[in-house]
Amino acid sequence: MEIVSRRQTHDDSAYARQKTQGFRRLRFEPKLEDEFREQQGYSNLGLLRISIVFGVALWLLFCVVDILIAPSDLLGLFMAVRAVVLVPLLLFAALLWRGMPLYLISPLTMLCIVVVGLGAAAVVGLGHSRDLSFPYEGLLLVSMAGFFLVGLRLAEAVLCAVMILLGFIAIELWAGVPRLQLLTNALFLLCGNLIGAVGGYMLEFKTREQFLTVRLNRELAEQDGLTGLSNRRSFDQHLSTLWQQAERDERGLSVLLCDVDHFKAFNDHYGHAAGDLALQRIAEVLQSTARRPLDMAARVGGEEFAVLLYDSEPADAQRHALQLVEQVRHLAISHAASSTRAVVTLSVGVASRLHDHPQENEQALLAQADRALYRAKEGGRDQVQRI
Ligand code: GH3
Ligand code: MG
Ligand code: MG
Repeated sequence: MEIVSRRQTHDDSAYARQKTQGFRRLRFEPKLEDEFREQQGYSNLGLLRISIVFGVALWLLFCVVDILIAPSDLLGLFMAVRAVVLVPLLLFAALLWRGMPLYLISPLTMLCIVVVGLGAAAVVGLGHSRDLSFPYEGLLLVSMAGFFLVGLRLAEAVLCAVMILLGFIAIELWAGVPRLQLLTNALFLLCGNLIGAVGGYMLEFKTREQFLTVRLNRELAEQDGLTGLSNRRSFDQHLSTLWQQAERDERGLSVLLCDVDHFKAFNDHYGHAAGDLALQRIAEVLQSTARRPLDMAARVGGEEFAVLLYDSEPADAQRHALQLVEQVRHLAISHAASSTRAVVTLSVGVASRLHDHPQENEQALLAQADRALYRAKEGGRDQVQRI
């Protein structure tokens, strides 16, 4: 029988899959899309704080321009529009500094862009009602900010730009601007927006690509290549995090240290590739034990594995360990060279953190599990021991 070992490859990762599938429509599969948006929310906060300061400063600068160029009888109205727009901008700025839920960032950013755009369109419309040469190009700046400066996704920025453009056309019609001039002005804005949209597309495409690359690399750095379980490094990190959390929340934490029995003999008898395949099948059993979000199954050495069970009482941990040993036995992987059984077996050492007299630290817990594993080996293998 030919046994082909299946190495964990890039294609097993959701990030790698998405990279291969592509994302030309600027959308990932739902789970990754949620992850991407959450990450964007965090990373956009700093950018938004800078943008809002610039936005408010520019808006005030335009007040000065108004004073210089506005028809004198309209200056009061201009200032009223500018003041109304300033209110949501300042409220948004306050929220950005005091903290707000991530899901509100995009909608509020869009609201601000549209309010600023419509405010600017109103000023232009009022200006055109008196003087057709009143400058209107500033509107384009607002849309460009939507595309490039405030971290909106392309679809959101396009929506804002369309609303501003339609608002502009409506106000110009109200102001009685001649159709030909309205047409050329609207066309100019439309073309400017198209350039913004193409740039925005490229920017978002690159941002998404980078997101996938960074996450994929992180995943690969935390994963064991053969079995897809967490590797030693992420096990150590997770153990230390869970230890602190267990201390803070007064919860139990158990370590199941597992070692495949007579595995050197297995390799010698069946070959290394068969050994790899056996490790992968055992890893699947371990993974199914660590189902809850904070639990973890890891490959911590060649044929050594560990399972972390958070918020588990010693009796739970013991039950899980016994199940593990039984499930590995039931894989029924022939092991003619084993002096324990005719199939591959597992020995497990269990140690639990106790609320009333906990161990000194997580390393002490690990050392206990290691002693328990040693006892399981001494006691004849294919069994569970605990401290
Ligand atoms: P014990 O029952 O006392 O645990 O005996 P053992 O033979 O399992 O223990 P030992 O530490 O002597 O040997 C472990 C073996 O695991 C040695 C090595 O060939 C094998 N091994 C370690 N990593 C891998 C791997 O990635 N693939 C394969 N196929 N074998 C591995
Ligand atoms: Mg070993
Ligand atoms: Mg072994």
